[in-house]
This record gives sequence, C-alpha cells and structure tokens, in this order.
Amino acid sequence: MSIRENLQKVEESIAKSAAVSGRKAEDVTLIAVSKTIDVERILEAYEAGARQLGENRVQEMMGKQPQLPPDIGWHLIGQLQKNKVKYIIDKVKLVHSLCSLSVAQEMQRLLEKRDTTLDCLIEINIAGEETKSGLSKQELPAFLEQIAPLDRVHIKGLMTVAPFAENPEEVRKYFAEMRGLFDKLSGRAGLEMKYLSMGMSGDYNVAIEEGANMVRVGTAIFGHRNYTI
Ligand SMILES: *Cc1c(COP(=O)(O)O)cnc(C)c1O
Repeated sequence: MSIRENLQKVEESIAKSAAVSGRKAEDVTLIAVSKTIDVERILEAYEAGARQLGENRVQEMMGKQPQLPPDIGWHLIGQLQKNKVKYIIDKVKLVHSLCSLSVAQEMQRLLEKRDTTLDCLIEINIAGEETKSGLSKQELPAFLEQIAPLDRVHIKGLMTVAPFAENPEEVRKYFAEMRGLFDKLSGRAGLEMKYLSMGMSGDYNVAIEEGANMVRVGTAIFGHRNYTI
C-alpha cells in the first residue's frame, strides 16, 4: 500500500474510534511520526494531507525542516536534553516529552530572552516502566508546582507511551488512567489541559476510545522503520 492509502486508512480508523467515544474525527489530531523516514517519503504524506509531523531526535528534525514546506507543524516527541533546547525553542509547535525541571528552566530562560512562549505536554510513565522516560503519576503534583513559576512554558496537556503489547486491550487500563489524570488536572486553576497525546500504530484506536485527542502514528503510515540507514 502507498503512503497515501495508509494515511487514508489511519484517518478512517481514527474517525471510527472517535465516533465510539462520542467525538468527531476533527476532535483527534493525527501526528505523522516521521523519524528515520526520508524527506521524499515524508513529502508523499504531506501531499496526501499530513501537516503535523513528529520527530524524536532534535538533530534529525533540524536536518529535515528546511527541506520541507513551511506550513508543517513540528512535534518533538522524544527525550529532550537541556543542551539541545536552544535548537528547538523557535522551531517546534509542541514538545510532547517535558519531564525535567532543568529542561523547563532552560526553556524559560531562552523564551524570556526571545520574548516568546512554548507549548509543552508533560510526559507520564504511566506503567512505571524502568526503560521509559516520563514522570510517575506520584511525581506529577510536585513537578507542576515547580514549573508553575515558569510562565513562558505553557503546559497544554499530557503525553504517554503505553507499554508494548501484542493486544492493545492489555493497555486500555493505562489509557484510562491517563484520562483520569487529565480530567483531574483540567479543573485546576492556571492549567489549560487541551491535549491528551497517547496512542501509536498498535494501540491508537484503544487510546482514542479512552479519550486521546492526539495520536502519534508512524509505522501504520510509513511502514516499518529501517534503523540501519
Ligand atoms: C516512534 C514513536 C511513535 C510512533 O510509533 P509507531 O508504532 O511507529 O506508530 C509514537 N510516539 C513516540 C514517542 C515515538 O517515539
């Protein structure tokens, strides 16, 4: 199948799951995850309508950006180190993976200098996996308090990467737990909980059914990644 056909299939599937949870297709933002994918194939997705791209490496994203149309919204979905903040501060629409106070402080410092702001999601390690980044839900309240004074760093929601499972039903409970956290925070003064970013190729339907309004899909659009190139 072509990238165009894959994208259409994913979009139709998103619409179905959105309907199951009483929402419209437009209520769910699809991020096409283009990590390891070359510019030519990314352009195929662009021509088929993809406008939001997700990358997990700063260097890779910076290399691709100048070669692609300017109306693309770039999403940083991978770990961000403090010394790389300066490269992405004015180049991304949304950072999905904020989970470090020192990174947030560095953002604040640079954003003040440029007199601008940056939208971020807080990454939660919802299943408490040792190999994954993100805050535990226990760490979240203190983190929110610590970053509250950083007025240039705009928190817009939460993100998670669920554990790998052959059957996505196995991780439904984690998505439901994220939704619970998201709803709880939505009532808090000074916090705008707009995006709940969860769901990848193997589990985005379940994630949407449980309330995700942003999904990050790579393989189902571009095919399997080749990490050797
Ligand atoms: C690679 C990646 C995705 C996309 O994964 P697929 O299974 O290829 O859809 C989503 N989120 C993050 C954080 C990723 O690193």
